[in-house]
Parts: sequence; structure tokens; C-alpha cells
Amino acid sequence: MAKKGRVFSGARPTGRQHLGNYLGAIKNYVALQDEYESVYCIVDVHALTTVETTKDLVVNTYDMALDWLAAGIRPEESIVFVQSHVPQVMELHTYLSMVTPWGKLTDLPTFKEKVRQQESNVNYGLVGYPILMTADIVLYKTDVVPVGVDQAPHIEFARETVRSFNYRYGTNVLREPQMKNTEIPKVLGIDGVQKMGKSLNNHIELASTPDETRQRVMQMVTDPQRMRRTDSGNPDVCNVFSMHKIFTSKEDVEMINVECRRAGIGCVDCKKRFAENLNKNLEPFRNKREEIGKNPDTVWDVLHDGAKRARAIAEETMVEVRAAMQLPK
Ligand code: ADP
Repeated sequence: MAKKGRVFSGARPTGRQHLGNYLGAIKNYVALQDEYESVYCIVDVHALTTVETTKDLVVNTYDMALDWLAAGIRPEESIVFVQSHVPQVMELHTYLSMVTPWGKLTDLPTFKEKVRQQESNVNYGLVGYPILMTADIVLYKTDVVPVGVDQAPHIEFARETVRSFNYRYGTNVLREPQMKNTEIPKVLGIDGVQKMGKSLNNHIELASTPDETRQRVMQMVTDPQRMRRTDSGNPDVCNVFSMHKIFTSKEDVEMINVECRRAGIGCVDCKKRFAENLNKNLEPFRNKREEIGKNPDTVWDVLHDGAKRARAIAEETMVEVRAAMQLPK
């Protein structure tokens, strides 16, 4: 089938992926492969703006790539690679930085938030983060970037930067990416309140064993108003119920919806059912992960091959960029 164009997405190397990563990103990556030529990047250079040490970068990159592959990213079709393996992105970042006003970067809400989060480490890379992100996107002549609303300002920034560059050099070599507005669910952690994330340790890892998964699920917070088994519950405010809606059959979801409200089913039983369904759903992923993981070279081969393909596109773009800028040959 003819593809609609090229899609690009990047994520920092955060190691073993959790349900939030899966429902909020990976599942979408897998689906997009059918429609678009897909480029998926593990953005290790971006990670350097926030990490204190690089000692876990290799293992985190490996674990993340392994999860992506096990979840259904097809490296024969899609390009999966590590950002720093394509140094052209750093070069393009530098050129784009020359057409970017400083104030525009420091005005971005995401930058202000980072300053609040890491007051003692407001490094230059943090300021330039959106430029590097723009370089990531446009280096591969990306048509669309799937993002949630919170990332919209960054895509708008990328589009403006492309326009500034093209205008400054009287060219059209860089392509303005379109934002593919994606419904990205905010997956809550087992606390039922905050967004699921590793740093909060409220996550459920895809690669956990069925037992570990069950234990995590049993810790999930349900409707806080429901104190006793005999109290009726409200599935509308229960995170376990939200998860059931994704992993449980329609009939069972309907049954839980009714029975919870009239205290026909208790939270413990409800969670046990969810754990069982989740484990069943994750079984193919876990089997594939184990299979691929038997030979770690497979993962590195995929990443190195992806980098080779990515570099070929990147260098083509850079030849045009350097020419447009009239840099000496
Ligand atoms: P990054 O800094 O690259 O966004 P994260 O690990 O925070 O790294 O997220 C990787 C991807 O997973 C992003 O697309 C993000 O939106 C998604 N994601 C992470 N946690 C959640 C969550 N709790 N709910 C929905 N999506 C999530």
C-alpha cells in the first residue's frame, strides 16, 4: 500500500517501558506504521539535558528498543535508531539556532517548567531543546508528527523555525511538519491520581512477570469513597475501571460497571480480574521480548541498521541545507 508520507517521533531512553508509555505512545507508533513511513528515534542527546549521569544510557536504550520491537515495531519497514548515531542532527541544530531568537526559547512554557524543576542545572542545552527537536523532525523531511496537545507549541515552534530558515536563505529545502493531533490518553499510575511514570514509582512495567504485575495491580487505588466491601462504588472515578475498559471484554466491563455500583463486586475481585486480563494481553509481548532478548545483538543490529538508513536521509538533507546556506564546499 502506498504510504501517506513520513512520520517521526522521538522518546528519551527511559529503559523498560510502562503501561503509560505503551498506551500513550508505542501503541500509536505500531499503528502508524501501516499508513506512514515511520522514523522512531531514541533521543539520547535530549536526555543529556536532564540526566545527572550517563551510566544507564546504554542499558536504558537497549531496554526501550527491546520493548518497542516486542510491542510490534517492524524494523524491516520502520527506521528505529539512536539520535546520537546521526551526528548531522547536531549540525542542523547549530544552523537552526542562528535563525532562532533567544527570547522565543526562554518564553516557552516547557522551558519555564524545566527551570522550576531543575533550578541548579539550567544548562544551555535545555534552552535549545526545541531547536534540537526541530532538527530531529526536519532532518528526515518529516510530513507529520504525532503529538498530544501539550506538545503543540513545540510543533508550532518547529514550523516557524523552518519558515525562518527557508526565508533567510531563500530556499524551500526544509519541510514544515504537520501536527497529527493524536488523542493521547493520560494514563494514571497505581496511585490513581498522578500520571503514570517511572520517577513516581507508580508504574506497571510491560516486561514484569505475571506475578509482579498482579502485585502491582493489587496495590492500585480504586474509588476512594468506597471504604468497605459493602459500600457501593463509582466506576466513573476509578482508575481500575478505566483500565478495564482497555483490557477487558465489553461484556465484563458492563458487568463490572453495574455490579460495582451496587456492591455486587468488590475492589479486590475487580483488581484480580484486571490483573488476569492484563497478563493475558501482555503475554504475546512478553514471549516476543524473551525471544528477541535471547540475543541482545539483534536489538543493537536493528539500531545500527536504522542509524545507517537514517544517516543516508540526513546527509541528503544536509547537502541541500549547506548548499542553500552557501557554505563553502
Ligand atoms: P519523553 O520525555 O520522551 O516524553 P517519557 O518517558 O515521559 O519520555 O514518555 C515517552 C512517551 O510515553 C511520550 O510520548 C509520553 O507522552 C508517553 N507517556 C509517558 N507516560 C505516560 C502516561 N502516564 N500516560 C500517557 N502517555 C505517557
